[in-house]
Amino acid sequence: MEREGSTPDHVPGHWDVVIVGTGHGGAQAAIALRQQGHDGSILMIGRDSVPPYERPPLSKEYLAGEKPFERIMIRPEKFWADKDISLMLGSAVTEIDWMAHTVMLSDGSAIGYRKLIWSGGGDPRRLSSTGANQKGVYYVRDKRDADAIRAALDAGAKRAVVIGGGYIGLEAAAVLRKLGCEVTLIEALPRVLARVAGEELSRFYEEEHRRQGVDVRLETGVEEILGEDGKVTGVELDSGETIECDMVVVGIGIVPAVGPLIAAGAAGSNGVDVDFICRTTLDDIYAIGDCAAHANPFADNAVIRLESVQNAHDMANTVAKAIMGDKQPYHALPWFWSNQYDLKLQTAGLSLDYDDTVLRGDPADRKFTVVYLKEGKPIAFDCVGTMKDYVQGRKMLEAGVERVDRELLADPEVPLKELL
Ligand code: FAD
Repeated sequence: MEREGSTPDHVPGHWDVVIVGTGHGGAQAAIALRQQGHDGSILMIGRDSVPPYERPPLSKEYLAGEKPFERIMIRPEKFWADKDISLMLGSAVTEIDWMAHTVMLSDGSAIGYRKLIWSGGGDPRRLSSTGANQKGVYYVRDKRDADAIRAALDAGAKRAVVIGGGYIGLEAAAVLRKLGCEVTLIEALPRVLARVAGEELSRFYEEEHRRQGVDVRLETGVEEILGEDGKVTGVELDSGETIECDMVVVGIGIVPAVGPLIAAGAAGSNGVDVDFICRTTLDDIYAIGDCAAHANPFADNAVIRLESVQNAHDMANTVAKAIMGDKQPYHALPWFWSNQYDLKLQTAGLSLDYDDTVLRGDPADRKFTVVYLKEGKPIAFDCVGTMKDYVQGRKMLEAGVERVDRELLADPEVPLKELL
C-alpha cells in the first residue's frame, strides 16, 4: 500500500528517508522529522499489519481488556497521511545494499533511500524446551500475541504458567490473576527482576504476587512443555514436578532484530553498534531503540542496549535532528515504568554496578523508594507509588549530584529536592 509522496524529491521506488520498524522508535523518528521541518518523502516499513501502536499496554491495559486498540495507537490513523508519511505495513526488510542505498523486501522488491533509520526492536527469545512449539504457548511482543492470549482466555483457559520473572512476565501474571486465572510464575534465578533491580524491589514484588495468589517458583527451570494432540497440558519443572495448565506465557527477553543490518556488514554483537548520534558503521544508516547498542552517559559510558519507550523515543529525536544537520549527542536520562495490580513503579537512571542501596519508606506500606548508589553517588531510583521522589530523583540524577547524606536520604520525610 505504498502511497506516492507528494514532495518534489520523490521518485517512484526511492524515498528520502526510509524507516524500518513501525514501533515506538520508528513512529517517533517520522514524527520528529516532520517536527524538525523535514519536507522530503518518508516511508515507514513494518512487519506489523496495523498502524503504529504502543507496546507497554500489551502486558497491561490492552491485555486486561481495559483499553481498546484505538486507544493504544501512537497517533490516529489519519495522522500519518496528514503528515505525508507513507506506511508500508505487513512487509519485512530482508536485505540491505548500503552501497546502492536500497533495501530489499520479502516480496523481492527493492526500495531506494537517501537515509535509512533502522528501528527493528527485537523478537521474543524463544523457549528452547521440548514441546515449546505447541499450541497454547504464547509470547508478548506484538498485538497479535496479546490478541492470541485474549482469545485463549475467552475460549476458557483458566490455568496459566508464566515463564520469566522480568517486567513482562510479572505484568502478564498480574493481569491473568486479575482475570481470574490460576497462575504459577517460574523464574530461573534466585529472585524476580534480578537483571534490572536490587533485592528490595525483587522481594517486594515476589511478596505482592504471592499475596495476590500467584504461585511464585524461584530458582526453577523448565524441563519440558507437556501436551496432548499438539496442545499444551502442563509444564514439567526441573525438579520433576508437573504443573498442569491450559496456557504458557513466556517472557524471557528479546533477541535484537538486526539480521539484515549485520548481514550487510554493520558492526554489532549485542544488537547493532551506534555512535553518539545513533549512526551505525554503514554510511547513511542509523539505528535506534531496543536494537541499538550505544555508550550511555548515565552508565559511565558503558555500551548497552536499553529496552524502553524513553530510549526509543529520545534516540529517534536525536536521529531526526542529525538528519536535519543538528548533531547533538544522545544524552537522555533513562526512565521506565511498570504497572502491576494497583502498584505503579517508576524508575529513573540505571542501577548497573550499584554498590549500595538506601530504602526510603517502608515496603509494607506499598509506598517506598529504593535509591541506588555507586561510590556514594545516586545513580538510580525505583519509586513505588512515590511520584514526588521520582520527579525529584530525576532532577538529582540530571544535576549529577555526587554525594548525599545517607541518613537524610533514608528519611522519607525529607524531600529529595532538599538534598540537591
Ligand atoms: P518496537 O517498538 O518493538 O518496534 C520494532 C518494529 O520493527 C516492530 O513493529 C517489528 O515488527 C518491526 N521490524 C523488525 N524487523 C523488521 C524488518 N526486518 N522489517 C520490517 N519491520 C521490522 N517500555 C517501557 O518504557 N515501559 C513499559 O512499561 C514497557 N512495557 C512493555 C511491555 C511489553 C509487552 C513489551 C513488548 C515492551 C514493553 N516495553 C516497555 C518496551 C518498549 O515497548 C520497547 O522498548 C519499545 O517498543 C522499543 O521501540 P523500538 O522501536 O525499538 O521497537
